[in-house]
Amino acid sequence: MSTKATVEKLVSLCKRRGFVFQSSEIYGGIGGFWDYGPLGVELKNNIKQAWWKAVVQERDDVVGQDAAIVMNPTVWRASGHLDTFADPMVDCKECKKRFRADELAGAVPASAHGHEAEAAKVTRCPECGGELTEPRMFNLMFRTYVGPVEDDASTAYLRPETAQGIFVNFANILTTTRKKLPLGIAQIGKAFRNEITPGNFIFRDREFEQMEIEYFVKPGTDEQWHQHWVEERYNWYLGLGMRKENVRVRQLDSEELAHYAKDTYEIEYLFPMGWSELEGIANRTDFDLRRHAEFSGRELEYFDEESGEHIVPYVIEPSAGVDRLLMAFLMDAYDEEEVRGETRVILRLHKDLAPIKVAVLPLSRNEKLVPPAREVWATVRKQWMSQYDDAQSIGRRYRRQDEVGTPLCVTIDFDTLEDKAVTIRERDSMEQVRVPIAGLVDALRERL
Ligand code: ATP
Repeated sequence: MSTKATVEKLVSLCKRRGFVFQSSEIYGGIGGFWDYGPLGVELKNNIKQAWWKAVVQERDDVVGQDAAIVMNPTVWRASGHLDTFADPMVDCKECKKRFRADELAGAVPASAHGHEAEAAKVTRCPECGGELTEPRMFNLMFRTYVGPVEDDASTAYLRPETAQGIFVNFANILTTTRKKLPLGIAQIGKAFRNEITPGNFIFRDREFEQMEIEYFVKPGTDEQWHQHWVEERYNWYLGLGMRKENVRVRQLDSEELAHYAKDTYEIEYLFPMGWSELEGIANRTDFDLRRHAEFSGRELEYFDEESGEHIVPYVIEPSAGVDRLLMAFLMDAYDEEEVRGETRVILRLHKDLAPIKVAVLPLSRNEKLVPPAREVWATVRKQWMSQYDDAQSIGRRYRRQDEVGTPLCVTIDFDTLEDKAVTIRERDSMEQVRVPIAGLVDALRERL
């Protein structure tokens, strides 16, 4: 994180410039739900694309899928979510505020989820000192009904993770792709958790997006593949420009492990509220496939030609949250510097993540400049997400683009009319170079 970034500054920038809005804001909002505006949706798509490219497109051992959000409810019995996906909740008898008992106890970091953490006893409200109720376990899954009748038989759940949609398709994908182990299945999609205390902007939401891989391996090779994925995923963050001092890998203690995990690493980011999880990389063993085989009655096995045996693969699961990553990338990119007595706010986003790659700016709205500027924009927009802006002074427009992380601006001025050349201005260095319009696309491509 830049030393200048605070959650307040980020929230304000996100709202002012159209990255993130509170959901249904005109009605007072709704806790834990957020909307992404024109720039936010571009940034989010770029994060997802960078992930997909790294884990699916560039590998020959991972394929993609996209499962439905609502699944047969037995899935959640088999996965253990119906029985154990719960947090301890307490209420203040005086001020009626609601808390997660494990967070109050400080048993786990404020940013951690800790379904497994035992609720240590705190009996007084941290806000008003009032008496707290006994902790009650609260299941985090959102419930709904499928079909016109609302009864137990029609109850279904919004998925709290995308992972289970992969496990239940394991056999389908193995048969249709005819791939050998190790085989990964990747998915990006919405997940829903009725969090007791959503907060820290988009860090903990009730509706969010996950990017998950279930990587199926032969038992006995699981530890080695686990290390592989921890390295791959850590390097992915650094490759997208995250500052090394703000990202770390932490191995969980045995008491922090989920019931299905043999070993788990977290990739954590140094947020203003402290080191917090961006991504979990768990060794889930054969827990999920065995449970689904048991509950469905189907064989979820792999025939290993080498040994001539049927085996139940082990699974390494790298699981990241898009919204959380988006917040971390923004915090990390945020910077302020003094330029000629003014504060310049810059998002030093990696070029692959920047929502707008190129801004096309005529020096003024002079009628002679508009046609060539529009022509330049028509060429540029076919290649990259770009913006045309002719409002206010050129200095102001540069600042506006800096503030949303646009790596390059192209300026059309009166000399353009004579020399058929334009100026490319670079965001971080503010350096300017003159290039002929005929070579503009190549010059931009070289820099992007
Ligand atoms: P946490 O401890 O932070 O609640 P978790 O350990 O329950 O997370 P996982 O179930 O491992 O989270 O989910 C994988 C990833 O999904 C997390 O690393 C995080 O990036 C993201 N994620 C989980 N819950 C939320 C949430 N409520 N809001 C936003 N992202 C989330």
